[in-house]
Amino acid sequence: MAVDPSLDDAPEVENYVSHTLKTTKPLSPVTWDNFMSELNWLNVAILTIVPIMSILGICYTKLRWETALFSVFYYYFTGLGITAGYHRLWAHRSYNAGKFLQYFLAIAGAGAVEGSIKWWSRGHRAHHRYTDTELDPYNAGEGFWWSHVGWMLIKPRRKPGVADVSDLSKNEVVRWQHRHYILLILVMSFVLPTVVPWLGWGDAMGGYIYGGFVRLLFVHHSTFCVNSLAHWLGDSPFDDKHTPRDHVITALCTIGEGYHNFHHQFPMDYRNAIKWYQYDPTKWFIWVCEKLGLASHLKVFPENEVRKGQLTMELKRMREAQEKLSWPQDSNDLPVISWESYLEQSAKRPLILIAGFIHDVASFIDEHPGGARYIIKYIGRDATTAFFGGVYDHSNAAHNLLAMKRVGVLHGGMPLGVDDKLVPPSQRLRVARYAELSSPYNSSTACSDHDDKEGMLG
Ligand SMILES: [Zn+2]
Ligand SMILES: [Zn+2]
Repeated sequence: MAVDPSLDDAPEVENYVSHTLKTTKPLSPVTWDNFMSELNWLNVAILTIVPIMSILGICYTKLRWETALFSVFYYYFTGLGITAGYHRLWAHRSYNAGKFLQYFLAIAGAGAVEGSIKWWSRGHRAHHRYTDTELDPYNAGEGFWWSHVGWMLIKPRRKPGVADVSDLSKNEVVRWQHRHYILLILVMSFVLPTVVPWLGWGDAMGGYIYGGFVRLLFVHHSTFCVNSLAHWLGDSPFDDKHTPRDHVITALCTIGEGYHNFHHQFPMDYRNAIKWYQYDPTKWFIWVCEKLGLASHLKVFPENEVRKGQLTMELKRMREAQEKLSWPQDSNDLPVISWESYLEQSAKRPLILIAGFIHDVASFIDEHPGGARYIIKYIGRDATTAFFGGVYDHSNAAHNLLAMKRVGVLHGGMPLGVDDKLVPPSQRLRVARYAELSSPYNSSTACSDHDDKEGMLG
């Protein structure tokens, strides 16, 4: 079978998204004049009749506890058809399912009335591939309500970006569902939830309203939350390039699809939640199916790579914190001073040499916890040994503060190699961008770089 022809035709360009946006024309914007003709009336009907019938039904139909329990069960049943079936099995191929489980999920998913597997997965694959761009059918950049329902109510302004669904076109179960879709949605969304409570405990009307409409209303908006709430609420522990977020509230609303930041980074992983205590019933369901022999090859992204993502985000946050603080001047930015010049200048102002750096301690003499006497004693001298234990083994905080008073570097005065005395404790570990690594913070060659330069202290 041939692959999707649009893939073969796709030109090699530097950036597919910007190229496509430049070379294809969107439909004209929706205005009050063309509003009625731009609506997708089938979706408008489904998405308005279901809530209206639910509200009317709740007002006029008594809820029996058996029907309530059944409706909750049926919500999970049809919801899992979407989350474990449409989403994790067909859109992402995150595990293999035997024929029995595939038919089960295709039938359950039809009860959620969200389109056929093929249509749904086509859009979802484009959503992952072009997240937050105009080629993403539920682009979160268009706002919460657009990504929640707007994109279904109004005819799409653009065709979603290219996404390969040739595997689904070949899938027997997907084709079967596509063929019988109308019959399946009628039976699964209304007939079955009416018949079961009717035969079970004589509550056909309750089943029709609560198991049919109200349950469908919840399934709809809970799965729609994956496109809206999951791109809006929470944080980004794995990557912040795009809008997907992780939040327990979203997970509770979506049968476990709320760890969406993780999911967009590792879409082939059968899990959304990676910690055992996080709420992800879809993952538990797939896991149980594996134990029952109905599913296999559950894909899990290598832990090492998952942790890399987390660490990158932690480092990013640390870098931000680091940039909010003031740091001592780098030896490369300080003037290089000869010993004679140091002696001469320290006669005029309180300069102290420690670990090759010249410090101006004027503002600190009276605040020195050990007393002004010790500072004055070392003006114009090398106090390295005294500072690091000869007189008193100073605290890390003292060393950090000392480094803030740097005004110069003594010519030839720095020890070879990176010495702990040279680098204040607060800077021994620091977050550096890759580009910065080639110019090390405090290289031992700093002095030789400055060999022919001699300056005055600023
Ligand atoms: Zn998403
Ligand atoms: Zn997905």
